[in-house]
Amino acid sequence: MMPTPPTTLSFSAFDASESVANLHLALDSSGLVQQINDLKNESWRGKPFEVSLCGDYEILRKFLGLQGASATYPCTHCLVHKNDLNKDITSTPRTIDQIVSDFEKVESQGFKSSAKRENNSISHKPFFNIPINKVCPPALHISLGIWQKFFTLLERDLQELGEAIADDLAEKESSSSSSSSVTCEAFDTYVQSIKQIKQGIRVKRDNADNLRSEALDIEFEMMSQSLLAPQEPDMEQMKEVEELHRRASNLEKEADLLRSKYSLEEFQNPLLTKLDVTLKEFKVRRQAYFGRTFCGNHVDKCLKPENYTRLLESVVEETRKLDSDMEDRASIIQMKYLVLFEHFSKCHRHYSHARPVTTQDIDTLERGIKDLMDHFLKKFPNVRITPKMHLLWKHVPCFMKETMHGLGRYGEQGGEQQHKIFNELTRRLQGIQRGQKEPELQLLLSVMEEHIIITHPDIHVNFMEE
Ligand SMILES: [Zn+2]
Repeated sequence: MMPTPPTTLSFSAFDASESVANLHLALDSSGLVQQINDLKNESWRGKPFEVSLCGDYEILRKFLGLQGASATYPCTHCLVHKNDLNKDITSTPRTIDQIVSDFEKVESQGFKSSAKRENNSISHKPFFNIPINKVCPPALHISLGIWQKFFTLLERDLQELGEAIADDLAEKESSSSSSSSVTCEAFDTYVQSIKQIKQGIRVKRDNADNLRSEALDIEFEMMSQSLLAPQEPDMEQMKEVEELHRRASNLEKEADLLRSKYSLEEFQNPLLTKLDVTLKEFKVRRQAYFGRTFCGNHVDKCLKPENYTRLLESVVEETRKLDSDMEDRASIIQMKYLVLFEHFSKCHRHYSHARPVTTQDIDTLERGIKDLMDHFLKKFPNVRITPKMHLLWKHVPCFMKETMHGLGRYGEQGGEQQHKIFNELTRRLQGIQRGQKEPELQLLLSVMEEHIIITHPDIHVNFMEE
């Protein structure tokens, strides 16, 4: 399959989950693996075939025979240890020969977990004999994964800020977030409930203090008496002191429990509501039934400087309306993410396209990635770098040096677009009668036939472009 639409030509479809067993059924049993492995030795009109591998991180690691993202050696392109992902080190590159040799060792040790771990996290035989420098880092999924990660970190910071604002408002004499631009009755209710809880906590703590001071008085009295005339301690009084301390610590525990029971839920937080409202201003609507994740188109929009700037400004504006005393804290968050998004946006622009690039373009990208990673490691020291961030940091510029093109030319975007094209064809063709025998298979065959008519180079050149 050529990855660039509209010239993407699919020649095989397999309607099943992408488990390793299913991939073997679809690719090995049909002889496709052999044909693809042979392709690079053949030519067409005197020109050799260029064979590269693309797909998202999950499918790439399955094609290469690797364990999952949490494996000891999670990278598809090098032998970085999972504990070294946050370090700026260059690890030994993976090679397809090494993967095959690691697999043979794992196989000879009966596929034991320890054997997989000790042999560079290889769990099964790689499917293709394609060199690792022809395996395209998954640009679309790198951008999606990194943006999702950054956005989740922002939401987490705003969750903490929302709780701090509620706490601060509950301390104040008159608290009202009625000036909030996003209607958030739930937040007002939360602040009022914190106020009541705080009152309850104060009463319990005051009572506990009183009990402890009562106990202290008795202890002092007992000590004074024993100084005047040495005598055995009064057991009754001792018991009374013990009881007072016990009641005091019970009240203190109850007070702690009261506070710990309350935390601001996401739907109550006006800052998170405001984020969603602002995203909708530039037509980014996350779907709840997809776990509120972003799609590729959303990421392109969010990474436009005017959009992420507006997004972060809206958080500061909202904080000012809720509680002006907290504006400085919001501004610190704004700056932290503004710099992060700026760096990431520049990187995304430089690798997420299919155009030819110059050495200068790649230098600019490398500098951009360095700025991004320096800022990230400094501002988020306890956050683990994911395999996708590592791929951007250590492998995207290398692959672009190899191909002198943006990742769009060799990447998985073309494949991803096939989902949309196939879904549309399926919708169009599913009303047609095909008899009762294996209707799903018949439909899939019709979709493939129609797809080949649309995309076959000869038909495309002779008919479609007229
Ligand atoms: Zn790596």
